[in-house]
Amino acid sequence: MLALAFLVIGLFVALNRKIRYSTWRPTHKMMGLVYLLAVGHFMTAPVVLFDRSRPSGLMLMAAAVTGVLACLYSVAGMNRRTALPFTIEAVRPLERATEVVLKPQHAMMDFLPGQFVFVEVQGKGWKEPHPFTISSAPGEQRLRVTIKVLGDWTRKVRDELQPGGAVLVRGPYGKFDSARAGNQQVWVAGGIGLTPFLSMLRAMQPGDPRQILLVYAARNERDALFLGELKTRVAELGNVSLLTRFSEQGEFADLPLIQQAWPGELGQRDYFLCGPKPMTDALRSRLRKAGVARGRLHAEAFEFR
Ligand SMILES: Cc1cc2nc3c(=O)[nH]c(=O)nc-3n(C[C@H](O)[C@H](O)[C@H](O)COP(=O)(O)OP(=O)(O)OC[C@H]3O[C@@H](n4cnc5c(N)ncnc54)[C@H](O)[C@@H]3O)c2cc1C
Repeated sequence: MLALAFLVIGLFVALNRKIRYSTWRPTHKMMGLVYLLAVGHFMTAPVVLFDRSRPSGLMLMAAAVTGVLACLYSVAGMNRRTALPFTIEAVRPLERATEVVLKPQHAMMDFLPGQFVFVEVQGKGWKEPHPFTISSAPGEQRLRVTIKVLGDWTRKVRDELQPGGAVLVRGPYGKFDSARAGNQQVWVAGGIGLTPFLSMLRAMQPGDPRQILLVYAARNERDALFLGELKTRVAELGNVSLLTRFSEQGEFADLPLIQQAWPGELGQRDYFLCGPKPMTDALRSRLRKAGVARGRLHAEAFEFR
């Protein structure tokens, strides 16, 4: 009963968006202990309630053992052992964002364009690790992340982060991989959601067989980070067309726009969406209604919980 009560409280805290991430995180970790309590309880339950010799009992036990191991691995911080040390080489201020360039202290990390890492700045006051998509391309000798100012931590990055500092980087994670999709692709980036596409474009070689429409939605031209680089890259590559939308001018990244910019069968293409959740959710559901198969829709959410 105690474990159940804690689980309900934990769920409430997780679903209540008004509770700050930094408050939610320790309560989320506590849920690991609650889970252990619950597993311990049913493992010791009498056979009449939980028969360990039946297939269902064995499956439950296997799930519980996997869960307990995963819980201990994460709560005890063992996942941090795989972190690689980097040095901050440059901190570049951008419009309401910061580009941070990281130099590996030993080996460079292998990753795919579209993947993200956890960045943990070493030093007092930097608190927990934060996830960021890698915006550089694999093969570069530096790791670049572009960080939009959204709250306390990201503001501190812009105001206080200095070259020369140490950073632990854990990852890479994620499966936002356009290289394994079909040859007709629509990429939709909203604001800072451009970062995975930046990495993809930086990695792309001329002669790439894919035909890509990149729709980049931002508040205005000043807010559209890396627009100059995007235009140059698109001109070099030849297989990518770029369409910008500025919300201050009443322009949005919506389905009629995509259809107008690239007429043809919507269901034959793969869609990669990254940006504010209301934007990606709306596009996703319109594309589903237009008959696009679930497997062709790939969305990256920039939030946990
Ligand atoms: C897979 C993934 C990739 C991301 N890639 C980028 C990127 O390339 N560029 C970029 O600018 N942002 C990216 N983000 C978002 C970025 O992690 C948050 O904006 C940042 O952590 C906010 O921190 P804050 O304390 O300044 O803001 P807060 O105001 O405290 O938080 C804003 C929101 O960010 C989330 N958040 C806060 N702290 C953390 C944390 N430690 N770990 C996870 N989420 C947190 C919460 O959902 C919160 O509601 C990504 C997020 C995810 C999950």
